[in-house]
Amino acid sequence: MFRSRYMPCENCGESLDRTAATTHECDPERLADYQIFGMRHDIAGFEQKLRDYLDRAHGRFEVWLAAQRVRRKK
Ligand SMILES: [Zn+2]
Repeated sequence: MFRSRYMPCENCGESLDRTAATTHECDPERLADYQIFGMRHDIAGFEQKLRDYLDRAHGRFEVWLAAQRVRRKK
């Protein structure tokens, strides 16, 4: 069975050379980009989920309560 010399890091997706003697440390920026990429479907659906929530009774109450708080601060 063919086994690739390179494997992706399971945390950041970077291609790692298995034969390299050095240990890998994830680059924080790459790690954040990779995690955001993994959540892309959740991020894309967030706005619709928020609208759906705000259209329900509990959400409408939250909107009303927020408006009350803003008015009190003026
Ligand atoms: Zn990594």
